[in-house]
Amino acid sequence: MIDSLKVKQSGLHEELNEIAQTIDASREELAAMQAGLARLEQEKRDLEVNHAAELENIQRAETNMKEIKTNKEFQAVGREITAARKQIADLEERVLQKIGQIEEISGAVAAKSAALEELSENSGRRIAEKQSEIENIQQDIDSDIARRETLTKEMPASLVKRFAALRDQRRGQALAIARDGHCLGCNMHLPPQLYNNLFKYEELLTCPHCQRILILKQQ
Ligand SMILES: [Zn+2]
Repeated sequence: MIDSLKVKQSGLHEELNEIAQTIDASREELAAMQAGLARLEQEKRDLEVNHAAELENIQRAETNMKEIKTNKEFQAVGREITAARKQIADLEERVLQKIGQIEEISGAVAAKSAALEELSENSGRRIAEKQSEIENIQQDIDSDIARRETLTKEMPASLVKRFAALRDQRRGQALAIARDGHCLGCNMHLPPQLYNNLFKYEELLTCPHCQRILILKQQ
């Protein structure tokens, strides 16, 4: 009884661990997505800084043009401006690309965040349920221990000892049902005389094969 309750309890504890692990995993995923988003935003800012620098280059070149005397110089500055404009167009395209990626990931982050919130809420409810189940089982265990102690007090000391030893050996089962000439604890055939003696209810009899205390169950 107590052993099966404890098994049930540890099963519940395991379920609690699984719930916590699921939440942790989901949190980690969200954190990774948020880190990715932050990285994209930083990249976008860097591109924007470059973009501003290229614009300044063009302005400077255009100012310089007014003071140019030779055709050769004019052509050189012209090439500079063309290159800068090309650079700007390229940067703008890349900024737009980043904006698109940021929007996409922002949406995914928001969805993930909402899902995590829902998961946390549901898990909170499930955790509370499991915990109260664990507590209920603990109460059963406690009352079972109390009952066992009361029973033990009323039993002769030699029997208590035998009972405890048997329970340890047989994983909590000190008693076995005897039926149709068999011990159901080990499924072995009982000696006929022993089996017949069970019907007299005079003494405690044990199975010669598994040593469990036999309880007669007639069909
Ligand atoms: Zn047996």
